[in-house]
Amino acid sequence: MTVTDLVSYEDALAAYDPVMGLEVHVELGTKTKMFCGCSTALGADANAQTCPTCLGLPGSLPVVNATGVESAIKIGLALNCTIADWCRFARKNYFYPDMPKNFQTSQYDEPIAFDGYLDVQLEDGEVFRVHIERAHMEEDTGKSTHVGGATGRIHGARHSLLDYNRAGIPLIEIVTKPIEGAGERAPEVAKAYVAELRELIKALGVSEARMEQGQMRCDVNLSLRPNGTEKFGTRSETKNVNSLRSVERAARFEIQRHAAVLSSGGKIVQETRHFHEEDGSTTPGRIKEEAEDYRYFPEPDLVPVAPSREWVEELRATLPELPRVRRNRLREEWGVSEHDMQSILNAGAVDLIVATVEAGADAAAARKWWMGELARRANEDGVELAALPITPVQVARVAELVAKGDLNDKLARQVIEGVLAGEGDPDTVVEKRGLKVVSDEGALGTAVDEAIAANAAIADKIRGGKVAAAGALVGAVMKATRGQADAARVRELILEKLGVEG
Ligand SMILES: [Zn+2]
Repeated sequence: MTVTDLVSYEDALAAYDPVMGLEVHVELGTKTKMFCGCSTALGADANAQTCPTCLGLPGSLPVVNATGVESAIKIGLALNCTIADWCRFARKNYFYPDMPKNFQTSQYDEPIAFDGYLDVQLEDGEVFRVHIERAHMEEDTGKSTHVGGATGRIHGARHSLLDYNRAGIPLIEIVTKPIEGAGERAPEVAKAYVAELRELIKALGVSEARMEQGQMRCDVNLSLRPNGTEKFGTRSETKNVNSLRSVERAARFEIQRHAAVLSSGGKIVQETRHFHEEDGSTTPGRIKEEAEDYRYFPEPDLVPVAPSREWVEELRATLPELPRVRRNRLREEWGVSEHDMQSILNAGAVDLIVATVEAGADAAAARKWWMGELARRANEDGVELAALPITPVQVARVAELVAKGDLNDKLARQVIEGVLAGEGDPDTVVEKRGLKVVSDEGALGTAVDEAIAANAAIADKIRGGKVAAAGALVGAVMKATRGQADAARVRELILEKLGVEG
């Protein structure tokens, strides 16, 4: 189905009610794999980080990674889930070349965490509650590279390469209950949920949750039912969507595609689908297996996981403030709008501004520099804000120099430029580049006198009451002092000397 065959989004929603299910896989940031001691560090040679256990060699035995279990419990608690007293791992049996054991160690009907929820905030401020079915522990597969084809897919490839470094890296799979009642906002809810979950995972410190690196990926399940009916339609499952924008687009496309199939009398096939970044479309993957196809059974080589209630409560006590709560608190403290807060969040500036305020700057100044000059630089250089070679302490010092009147905005920008260029701390840059506001009243007075003398006609206008014309004289003085004067003070002096009330 091409994009042009779709039913328009409005028409789709006029006839059908979308029901979504979101499955998010999070790769944990543990140092070692889930069931062996192999390193999880990125960038090693292919298959350098493997051992008999994660290669599934006969006779090897797995041992559970305690940090992996701890991370899973933290995620479960942060999602308001019940933590199981006792649960087991299960083998999910299927053959895939990138899964050397021929089964994935996962959890089936005994997940470590279940029955929770996550409140997500939509762009207009409305809070939507997404109910969580379960969060369970499992392991990642290896990675296949298909060589010789045009698309990088297996079709048309000459041969395939396998790298098992990723096999056995701990994953937490978080599954929502069917998300109903979102209506036309379903794609927005999907995006907001994944965004909130990502913030939460990062705040817990259990993963960096970088979607572009595959540390967090989302399967979007979607079905439509005729408006006013209860029974769920047949769902499609769009796999491994790896950006927030793509999650929203995938949900939107599937709503339009399902509506097109259903309204022309067709049937939706239960299948997995691939999402295409280029045009936001999806194409069929494989016909979806049912759970019984996997012949799950309890993993005989691992002991059950039975976290004591004391441990669970200890972990609960370590949970950080929830990102949504923290965001709302900061938004009030900083006095910014919902929309501005969203921009700050999107720019990755929240923690930087917090740290700058902690270093002594006021919130407005911290926000101004990070969201203005520095965001522009990061954008130009194509790097994240946090990757710029300037620290919140340095930004706070610049803000302080401005607040004290030692720098004006123009000079402050030059100081920032110097810090970014590696010339040292703000004070060093000020010293080296000779950047200080001319606050010597005598020197400033002379510059003002000269500007008045050189612009007699303008001076007359001002004397005649046209105060707005003072801007031209201020400009002349700023030019004469190479921008190093305090513009507000210059204006005062001009009006004073011309005998006009400001
Ligand atoms: Zn290993």
